[in-house]
Formats: sequence, C-alpha cells, structure tokens
Amino acid sequence: MAADPIQRLVRELARLPGIGEKSATRLAMHLVRSPKPQVRELAQALIDATEQIGLCSVCMTLTADDPCRLCADPRRELETLCVVAQPSDVIAIERGGHFRGRYHVLHGVLAPLDGIGPDDLRIAELVRRLAPSDAPAVTEIIVATAPTVEGEATAMYLARLLKPLGPRVTRIATGLPVGGDLEYSDQATIGRALAGRTAL
Ligand code: ZN
Repeated sequence: MAADPIQRLVRELARLPGIGEKSATRLAMHLVRSPKPQVRELAQALIDATEQIGLCSVCMTLTADDPCRLCADPRRELETLCVVAQPSDVIAIERGGHFRGRYHVLHGVLAPLDGIGPDDLRIAELVRRLAPSDAPAVTEIIVATAPTVEGEATAMYLARLLKPLGPRVTRIATGLPVGGDLEYSDQATIGRALAGRTAL
C-alpha cells in the first residue's frame, strides 16, 4: 500500500536540517493548502537547484557555473587562500566583505571519532592547488575552521601538511564564539577574526 501523501511529505520535510516532526507537519499542511502554481514553482526550484548545482573544480564550493564566480573573478588575489569547512562559510565571509583572496572548501572537518579522516575531505584538491604553475604562487593559507576541537585539529593537520610546501599557514583569531559557526557570525566579528589571524 502506498504511503499517505501527507505522511510522505511530512517524512521528507522532517529530513531537512533544523526541521523537526512538528515543523514538518506545519509546513506540509501549509503546502497542501497553498495555490498549486506556487507549490509547483517550489518543486521546480528544488529540482533545478539540485540538478544544476555541482562542485567548483577549483575551490570545491557549490556552484551552477564551473569555475565558480569567485574563482573566475580576475580581481581576486591568487596569493591568499581561505580554507573553510562548508560552502555556507564562503557566503558568510563574502558577506563580511573584508577578504579579497580565494577560497577552498573542505566539506567537513577531521572527526576521527565519527570516522572522518583526511581522505573524506577535499584536502588532496587543496594540495594540488599549491603545485607550481604559471599563476602566482599561493603565499598564505588562512584556516577558517570553527574553534571547536575538530576545527582546531583540522587546522593543525593542515599546517603540518602544507607548510613544507611553501605557504605561510595562519589561523583566524578565535574572536568567534567557541563552537560558533562562521555562518552565524556577524560581519564585524568575521572581519576581526580575519584581521587578527596568527601563524600556525
Ligand atoms: Zn571556485
């Protein structure tokens, strides 16, 4: 027997981050009562976004164009790379408007207890960007992972791995609330964290 359509909708919505059973039910009720063209537009937007978005082959962020807008921008400095855990961190730092370099997205942080090691992150792609090429060499890598145990461990691991390859490796100041995500930090805090970075 096919699942009840409303139950099915609630179940799918409840899979989304930050959406519990109660919110999922409320959203489902709202959607089934909404004008059909509006719901169709939402469904199409979901399909289009998920089908058209992929990873930038340079910085690994989520993008509809490859390379992404930031990697393709000739005004961005090639010498400085900011390493972040998630694509949402790129958006947060860009919102701050202080950073003129380029990014590299790891898609997570090292978490041995959860079985997440270096091979599960986009670290090999980062190392590849440091290989000699015609472009100006990367002289500084700013590690902007969150000041959590995993974020710090990831920063230390990257410093050990990358320093022998040439660039200075720095860490953003822990002006961010401990355990806080860049995603939720305000512009001034992000600016201070970047300005107060220290060598690893
Ligand atoms: Zn990119």
